[in-house]
Amino acid sequence: MSEKKSRIKKATTHVTQNEGLLFEISRQGRAGYSIPQLDVPELPPEELIDRSFLRTDDLQGLPELSEVDVVRHFTRLSTWNYGVDTGMYPLGSCTMKHNPRINEKVARIDGFANLHPLTPVDLAQGALEVIVRLEECLAKITGLHAVTLQPAAGAHGEMTGMMMIRAALSERGNPRKKVLIPDSAHGTNPASAVICGYTVETVPSNSEGLTDLEALKREMNADVAALMLTNPNTLGKFERNIEEICRIVHDAGGFVYMDGANMNALVGVMKPAASGIDVMHMNLHKTFSTPHGGGGPGAGPVAVTKELEPYLPYPRIVRAGDRFSTNFDRPKSIGRVRANFGNYGMLTRALSYILTFGDEGLLEMTQTAVLNANYIADKLKDTYEIPYAGRVMHEVVFSDKWQTPHGVKNSDISKRLIDYGFYPPTMSFPLIVHGAMMVEPTEGEGRTELDLFIDAMKSINAEAIEEPETLRHAPHSTKVGRLDETAAARKPVLRWRSAEESEAQRADKNTR
Ligand SMILES: *Cc1c(COP(=O)(O)O)cnc(C)c1O
Repeated sequence: MSEKKSRIKKATTHVTQNEGLLFEISRQGRAGYSIPQLDVPELPPEELIDRSFLRTDDLQGLPELSEVDVVRHFTRLSTWNYGVDTGMYPLGSCTMKHNPRINEKVARIDGFANLHPLTPVDLAQGALEVIVRLEECLAKITGLHAVTLQPAAGAHGEMTGMMMIRAALSERGNPRKKVLIPDSAHGTNPASAVICGYTVETVPSNSEGLTDLEALKREMNADVAALMLTNPNTLGKFERNIEEICRIVHDAGGFVYMDGANMNALVGVMKPAASGIDVMHMNLHKTFSTPHGGGGPGAGPVAVTKELEPYLPYPRIVRAGDRFSTNFDRPKSIGRVRANFGNYGMLTRALSYILTFGDEGLLEMTQTAVLNANYIADKLKDTYEIPYAGRVMHEVVFSDKWQTPHGVKNSDISKRLIDYGFYPPTMSFPLIVHGAMMVEPTEGEGRTELDLFIDAMKSINAEAIEEPETLRHAPHSTKVGRLDETAAARKPVLRWRSAEESEAQRADKNTR
């Protein structure tokens, strides 16, 4: 084992000590406070609280711990977590980029962070200005006419966009029945279309990994409400026929929805509006660095053409000189899609990011993200198969085709990457690539870290050839080793166990 481990050039190390639950490390009588002796007469509770409200049973099972127990417990748990602040996190399409700390500082400014959402408009001018300025920035970046910041995630933005398309088509007299979606799309696209009452039809990709124009022409007809197109698509390819695609859809009376979750490949280089699209969402939590993962809040602003503007969710924030007001008088609006003004803390962070970088900085961000992805693609193209070869944008999709003859799958490779100190790439997606490993370094990584990742991937390939067993049981350096994913899905343990039960299960696992 030690010999096998010596291959590892560690970017980070894991803390591997055992850590019980708070309930398990509880010791009777421990407390996180100390208060002086009582110097007034003690009153029985019945004298202060009506007897009918008093508990009759003993409160049991709450953990009793000292302050240091609690602080160490949570600090140690935090060291088991891998995040963008620990090391490279090449989770393709999720764009796990560095969140500059200035964003956090701005989001925590008292007047933003603690403003009540129902504060009268006159007392919330600064907060409303943030919304309007961010909308203006995103309108400039996309080239589109207007933006809503209400949607709380990319998928929520898709739903909002499709609702607007449905409303516009209904007003023309027929909401239509179908939505076309390429086979490489993110699963949220068909889900959003179905939620808005449409059936989904798949458009195949061609050998280059782009939307097949002939297939699109065949499927496009008066039943089709929209095409949902991801650009750059999930193979990291720019849909260079986008103008032709828009023409085909528009000629048949449909709308083009662009999934712009990964605008980090386009900002400052391409204006989506110029390609002819009608509506798009962007993920602030991908492109504009606001932190995400672990179920944290996101934001999926939607930008639209002038034609779709009347359908935007209300209220709209209106600027008149340097005064800001809310407008609910929007008869065609699809209504609210989120309470209040969306995930406001994400909006302040994104605006902070955009203003700190400025036009030139954002352009450099895009260029570096694309350069980094192509650097990795180029350095690893002889080690791992790239099914759709050629230049990529923000991410590159490899497959495990050259490793499977050694009995090694993409999951083995990614688990082994954890031993080398890296978070695994996105796995088995897009679905059109068997054994896919989708790598997105983002612009945040420097040459040193990229080279470490490339070395790790090459080293893992050498292991696949020489000692595939090492990979099949990886990771070796983490507190928890290879999990039985089938059992985790089929027989999940969602219940808190007593200390005795946990101990028994641990003993059972060790003997197996
Ligand atoms: C991440 C992503 C989405 C969904 O965004 P969420 O914020 O996770 O809902 C949609 N499409 C693409 C291409 C994405 O990468």
